[in-house]
Amino acid sequence: MEIDYAIELDRIIFEIKKRNVRRILLQFPEGLRGSALKISKKLELETGVETLISMDSCWGGCDVAETAALTVKADLLVHFGHSPWPKKPKVPTLFIEAHSGVEIREVVLRAVSLLTARKVGIATTVQHIHKLGEIKKILEEKGFEVLIGKPSGGAKYAGQVLGCDLSSVEKLNVDQFLFVGGGIFHPLGIALATGKSVIAADPYSGKVSDMKEEARRVLMQRYAQIAKARNATRFGVVVGLKFGQINLELARQIKNKIESKGGEAYLLAAEEIAPERFYGLADIEVLVITACPRIVIEDGPQFRIPAITPRELDILLGFENWNDSIGEDLLGYKL
Ligand code: SF4
Repeated sequence: MEIDYAIELDRIIFEIKKRNVRRILLQFPEGLRGSALKISKKLELETGVETLISMDSCWGGCDVAETAALTVKADLLVHFGHSPWPKKPKVPTLFIEAHSGVEIREVVLRAVSLLTARKVGIATTVQHIHKLGEIKKILEEKGFEVLIGKPSGGAKYAGQVLGCDLSSVEKLNVDQFLFVGGGIFHPLGIALATGKSVIAADPYSGKVSDMKEEARRVLMQRYAQIAKARNATRFGVVVGLKFGQINLELARQIKNKIESKGGEAYLLAAEEIAPERFYGLADIEVLVITACPRIVIEDGPQFRIPAITPRELDILLGFENWNDSIGEDLLGYKL
């Protein structure tokens, strides 16, 4: 089977047979959905199991289709592409990581020209975690001292980061970071959480970039959102309903904080937190999103009203100071 990712199909087959499973729900992130049909067919032929392929969004290890698996009475949920989430789902779940076969050597060598510090922290996502040793070796051969963060929070592996949990790198005593992986969300998060220089090396596009300007642009955008919310009195506090994003206690605390300052607050709940979902609530002036930080950072400008993080609300209400928060995890998430 030709898959660009190494996926442990034998392990799934073994578990299906061992557990005497009759029906499974398969859940793939967008990037792996091209392999869904082949995997489904192989599992059905080799084990006789009935498979259903979830076509809902699957953004991260937080996004386990627990409710769907219960609805279709699946004996097993197979969640592809992410490492296990710290919270245990109610349905027996296999987390099957997908390790990318993409080469990293060239892009790392290209990134070397942007590394100005000698003491460098390296980080990646689970898709490239098996390449961490190779990245370290390349940099050490070029004379860098390389440090790798320990597993922490939602990060199962040393050097792994999640978009909402950068705790594995936050305390690393380095002068600069090299992130190897797709997209800019994770390296941007490291830059915002640590306030340090981050070089992003994307092995898919071959692009290397310094996150400094992007971090500055996002901080200005965040500042503008807080400023826009300054005179608001009516807030929607949004609770995400995705498996690992439910933060009801935090939402309650936020509601209390708003009310303690004389504001009005309503708890809102949604699985997919998209701008158009809130059009009907014309009286709400600000949304405080307690779910995935990506919603605010990437989709924030598309919301009709300011959409801010819990930490940003603290700045808005005067519990925290903007200048003290920069470089100390402005996003303030630990899901
Ligand atoms: S909450 Fe957001 S950043 Fe965290 S794992 Fe889920 S999708 Fe990724």
